[in-house]
Amino acid sequence: MLRGVANNFCKIMKRNQRLVLKDKTGFRNINGTPVVILDSRGVIFYDTRVLEDIVWEFNLPAGEYYLERGKISEMAEPVQYDLMPMPKPERNRQGDPTLFKIQFANNPNKCTIDWKKRSITFDESMRDWPLPTMVFILYHEHAHKYYETEAICDRYAANKMLDAGYNQSQIGEAILSLSDKQYPRKEYLIESLLGSADHYDECINEDTEYADAQNVSGSADKFVGGQLIAKYPVTVYSSPNGNVIKTVKPGDVVGFIYSWVERDGKIFWQLQDNSFVEHKSGVFDTDALAQSLIALEREREAKIKAAAEERIENNKPLAAITNIMDTLKWVFIAGAIIAVVKLVKS
Ligand SMILES: [Zn+2]
Repeated sequence: MLRGVANNFCKIMKRNQRLVLKDKTGFRNINGTPVVILDSRGVIFYDTRVLEDIVWEFNLPAGEYYLERGKISEMAEPVQYDLMPMPKPERNRQGDPTLFKIQFANNPNKCTIDWKKRSITFDESMRDWPLPTMVFILYHEHAHKYYETEAICDRYAANKMLDAGYNQSQIGEAILSLSDKQYPRKEYLIESLLGSADHYDECINEDTEYADAQNVSGSADKFVGGQLIAKYPVTVYSSPNGNVIKTVKPGDVVGFIYSWVERDGKIFWQLQDNSFVEHKSGVFDTDALAQSLIALEREREAKIKAAAEERIENNKPLAAITNIMDTLKWVFIAGAIIAVVKLVKS
């Protein structure tokens, strides 16, 4: 009996093996190589190749999958992920959306929920979309039973996904693949999904600590010029670890980032008036910071473009430059999201 249980939990999965899971299940990555798992349609469901850190433990929700890459074994318990705190419901709409009929049809809005007809309609073009993205949208629609605020619905969806056995990176990918117009919403949620590596480091050694500090230092430059607004009270110092000058109230402007320094493993932002504030996760309004950085980049871009237009030679069509500028803009915005993610992980 005992042996049977042990065998069951320690099964080592072979490549392309079909996994049929009745419940959410935890898996261990045996040799640290990338793991790629396909859903029953053959669409990528979970792919650790895109992640910066090696994933040693992860979950899969109930369902049918194929192991495309990696060497994994089933664990006795799923990985425990912390859920994000939710505000009180803003309302309670009649009807249970989890029982609504799900259908595919032409839908320019990608996905809509009809509370009267009790149906959820995905656009035809989404049939082949990755499952985590569709599930994220579905849970977001469910959330509207209780919430009106879009960002809160996103958070509700993320919690539901974690609870069902999805990993943080799958939720992150789902969010990033949604419309670019919703950038502040995405960033808000990514910020909430702190520590987005799909595992918990129980034995942090000096090497990884050093690597983490390097990561933050590497991205801190991207925040120079950005505006800090307090989300929680922020103490302003005369120098890193120096005298307290004042405390900035939540919602008030702390200042513009001039530079940054690392002191005793902490990051301090040097403000334009030469005062200092310590970087702590969640203390600053990262939406506002990202927006100010984007505005700054647009300004910079406009200047470069104006200069380029001035210098432009007759044989170089202006259109080519315009295209490059458009590409750069999106590269920057993607960079800003990644940088914010890295920063909040610190
Ligand atoms: Zn919505």
